[in-house]
Amino acid sequence: MRHEDDRLTTPACGVHVVVVGGGFGGLRTARALSTRRARRAGLRVTLVDRHNHHTFQPLLYQVATAGLQPQDIGISLRATLRRRGVAVRVGEVVAVDAAVGRLRFADGGTLDYDRLVLAAGAIAEDFGVPGVAAHAYGLKSLADATTLRNAVLSRFEAASAAPGGTEDGVLTFVVAGGGPTGVELAGALAELVDLVVRRDHPELDLARVRILLLEPRDRLLGAFTERSSAHALEQLQRRGVEVRLGIGVARAAADEVVLTDGEVVPTRTLVWAAGVAASPLAASLGVPLAAGRRLPVDEHLRVRGVRGVFAIGDLAAFPAADGGLLPQVAPVAMQQGSVVAATLVAEVTGQTAPPPFAYRDKGSMATVGRAAAVAELPGGLRLRGLAAWVAWLGLHLLMLVGFKNRFGVLVSWIWNYATVDHAARLILDQREAATVETSNGWVRRTWAA
Ligand SMILES: Cc1cc2nc3c(=O)[nH]c(=O)nc-3n(C[C@H](O)[C@H](O)[C@H](O)COP(=O)(O)OP(=O)(O)OC[C@H]3O[C@@H](n4cnc5c(N)ncnc54)[C@H](O)[C@@H]3O)c2cc1C
Repeated sequence: MRHEDDRLTTPACGVHVVVVGGGFGGLRTARALSTRRARRAGLRVTLVDRHNHHTFQPLLYQVATAGLQPQDIGISLRATLRRRGVAVRVGEVVAVDAAVGRLRFADGGTLDYDRLVLAAGAIAEDFGVPGVAAHAYGLKSLADATTLRNAVLSRFEAASAAPGGTEDGVLTFVVAGGGPTGVELAGALAELVDLVVRRDHPELDLARVRILLLEPRDRLLGAFTERSSAHALEQLQRRGVEVRLGIGVARAAADEVVLTDGEVVPTRTLVWAAGVAASPLAASLGVPLAAGRRLPVDEHLRVRGVRGVFAIGDLAAFPAADGGLLPQVAPVAMQQGSVVAATLVAEVTGQTAPPPFAYRDKGSMATVGRAAAVAELPGGLRLRGLAAWVAWLGLHLLMLVGFKNRFGVLVSWIWNYATVDHAARLILDQREAATVETSNGWVRRTWAA
């Protein structure tokens, strides 16, 4: 169903809008598309994601450091969308055939659309640094966060089991990237060591724990003011984090990281928080890409040069007022999702189209640990310390999807704060299930996919 002027008409079979990605942008789009009026006008919506859940990425670092459980920050897509009449397809989209309006899945399936909203987010950008893709831990999904949590907690168990054997970097944690994710993770790791490991592992000499935060530029939190950067630096150093400015990763191996100044740091735990690039689905459209391999979009978030396809969030390249591109943050994705949904609903119902997209910047925040954060809000309001931390807690609770998640996170935070603990410190290694001890010895299990 392609139209010369690229506007929707509603045939008898209805108009099928497919949204790829159940993250911040895609979920907002699907929800906003499911109005009764749009449904009556024949709009059908399918949301596609490789996971069966939405992930609240800003709190992944708290799952990785045992402050929250994975289910606190994930919500089932079917549960949240079923009452809205949105269909869900779980699967990995591998290509978009825009000429015929079809998605192709890794499992061989296809799904036809009349309109497509690409909201597949971003992937880690390793900038071609050797060894990073193979040896660094990521922090993009719940699986990443629990894998990192398993690794971190296992390092302390390994060190406790062999107190003399920690010289090979078992207790050295390297975080690459001094943006909000790296800063928050490094602060949370330091807190985990100080508040939890100190009591859990009294036999360990904690002076042997090293947390290195590497930032190739000359300051942390480059998108914040210099004052906020300096505050974050001071707070991290006070918590024992070794911050290396002007230094990045030159090469990574399983048991060491070579820094750009030549220093070799023995470690088994490198976390990559140094950058993101758009999902490879952007490239599958075959149009020229913008910086960060993002899809150029017009003022209504239509992909330039491709009929019937919108792009939003981390995947889209929308010009910012300063001449660059809008940042890859959740509010951009959500606001864009609302506008795309309004555009599609208006087309189907014959209402007036909404005005072109304009981003309302609601500010930036990053936390360093208990009662320590920086917040830069609209109107020049700058907060630091406890006030910023409280603002950060409140905003993240509001942004979480689902009452149960909000309630669960609030209870966990109160519990952790009151008991000075990180209660979620279970080591749950899924690889363990692949081998089972039977009366005939150990058996390796294989299951159908
Ligand atoms: C650790 C971390 C911390 C962050 N902290 C903050 C913060 O504090 N504040 C803030 O504003 N932003 C933060 N961000 C950025 C924010 O999460 C993103 O900007 C936002 O998620 C972008 O929304 P999106 O809808 O474009 O993509 P996402 O929310 O990433 O959603 C993309 C979805 O697409 C799915 N998907 C991807 N590829 C495919 C495929 N091929 N097939 C099927 N499904 C696919 C994914 O499973 C995912 O559900 C953080 C990001 C990370 C990783």
